[in-house]
Amino acid sequence: MENWESYVRKVVPYVPGEQPRQENIIKLNTNENPYPPAPGVVRALHDMNTGKLRKYPDPTCKLLVDAIAENYGLKSSQVFVGVGSDDVLAMIYLTFFNSEKPILFPDITYSFYDVWADMLRVPYEVKPLDNHFKIIKEDYYGPNGGVIFPNPNAPTGIYMELSKVEDIISHNRDVIVVVDEAYIDFGGASALPLIDKYDNLIVVQTFSKSRSMAGMRIGYAMGNEKLIRYLNDVKYSFNSYTMNETALVLGTEAMRDKAYFEETCRKIIHTREWTKEELRKLGFSFGDSMSNFIFAEHESVPAKELFEALKKAGIYVRYFNKPRIDNFLRISIGTDEEMCELVEFLKEYIK
Ligand code: PMP
Repeated sequence: MENWESYVRKVVPYVPGEQPRQENIIKLNTNENPYPPAPGVVRALHDMNTGKLRKYPDPTCKLLVDAIAENYGLKSSQVFVGVGSDDVLAMIYLTFFNSEKPILFPDITYSFYDVWADMLRVPYEVKPLDNHFKIIKEDYYGPNGGVIFPNPNAPTGIYMELSKVEDIISHNRDVIVVVDEAYIDFGGASALPLIDKYDNLIVVQTFSKSRSMAGMRIGYAMGNEKLIRYLNDVKYSFNSYTMNETALVLGTEAMRDKAYFEETCRKIIHTREWTKEELRKLGFSFGDSMSNFIFAEHESVPAKELFEALKKAGIYVRYFNKPRIDNFLRISIGTDEEMCELVEFLKEYIK
């Protein structure tokens, strides 16, 4: 009998939403953007110099970092990029969550937070949302080893006003506060203007939702220069070449096309508000989502049943079999046509 198994880092992995192989699925289960990437991205991919792939990419990711910095009016030394915000967040955990005190996050939130904590042996404590699924800011005042929450929160879609976000940051000046803004472009106000005032704040965003590039895997963190330097030290100690050449070039194009980005977000917000009205008429209730999804509960039909019926009909949404949220469906916002099909199906099924 060999004993190597006692030295394995045993983890319970994060389970991503299903990526079906069939083509004709209405896919509303992973909060992807239903619109294609910006036209400049398509052109750049077409014109890509594949000869360049022979070489390692630029480890500093300068092209992309500069484009992000320019877009937000920051210095390039205030921007860190990674392979999706998942990679950025994992690097943040490694770099900043090294206290013996627990890090804090909500009980209902992005389900990767406890997975990273368990994997990296970071102690954590969850703080229950209130009955309306809102974050109770006072819960984050006590001693802790760091704070992380999404704004808007996921999977609820609920946004916390900036004054409350600032209140949490200002009560935690001795630790790092991470605001995960994966969904901020769909109506909320970013905490980014606060990075000059608070040297313990990191704002994390992604190209996966509002910039239609989940498949390219690009995420970024913004904060003061010292924080970004520490993050880069850890990145270079782990993997110098996180971002491939294609991601650097295409990400830069996506960031530069502000008009396309704004138009896409506007369309999604419009479709979301239409979908809210229709779902309400059908007997669904939900908090006021400011993201590209709606987290809804029906007055009589159980969520699990709806989830299965929708799946059979080729409409994929997300269902979490977890305490407090096991009667909810998380429905990503697709195109107008896709949301019409969803509503038509539900009208038939529920009547
Ligand atoms: N944060 C939140 C709150 C999310 O919902 C997601 C998407 N699963 C991510 C981060 C990670 O997104 P990505 O790695 O695609 O940037």
